[in-house]
Amino acid sequence: KSFDDFYLSDEMLKALRTVGYKRPTPVQAESIPLILAGIDLIVQSQTGSGKTAAFAIPTIEMLEPKPGRIDVLVLAPTRELAKQVCKEFERLGQYKDLSATAIYGGASYEKQYKALETAQIVSATPGRLLDLAKRGSIDLSNLRILCLDEADEMLSMGFREELNAIVDFLPEERQSLLFSATVNEDIKALAKGMLYYPEYISL
Ligand code: AMP
Repeated sequence: KSFDDFYLSDEMLKALRTVGYKRPTPVQAESIPLILAGIDLIVQSQTGSGKTAAFAIPTIEMLEPKPGRIDVLVLAPTRELAKQVCKEFERLGQYKDLSATAIYGGASYEKQYKALETAQIVSATPGRLLDLAKRGSIDLSNLRILCLDEADEMLSMGFREELNAIVDFLPEERQSLLFSATVNEDIKALAKGMLYYPEYISL
């Protein structure tokens, strides 16, 4: 498989060359075409598999630049992962006019509000994101893509209620993606409430 197989934009192919990704990893080869097709997905994959780019590449491709309208929300278990995800979107989106921000507990509200004025992509930990949603400080009503990253970790850290509450702030018509190292009954139950007839990819 080659990145040329996915009919990606020139901007994306250029970004892939700049960051040095020569060919898709297995999780990318499986996920990218299905995400581009608009299908909901459960992807069982480990850290280190290239899973971040597996959802960042196709979601960036689907974005139209509209600063301040949040199109993509990625929920991650830790601030480190939320920051990492944000960085990967910035790297892969460097030739497109887009803006990503990471939202997590412990950071200043002022800075996060400022970044939200232009952000189209938000990667966040569930607690802080829900906090902002409840305060009415983040508008998620135009969201197109929800991605749960390391969903098993989020459940084991006790974020189930936050995740379910966050979904109430999202439009029903959206694409939802769930990435998890393990896919057990708890993950399937979580997916049932958030994904619409998902395809399942296991690597
Ligand atoms: P992740 O599983 O998303 O944490 O990614 C693990 C590492 O693989 C990161 O350092 C990425 O920069 C790198 N990576 C992701 N996709 C590719 C690719 N197609 N080719 C080479 N490296 C990659």
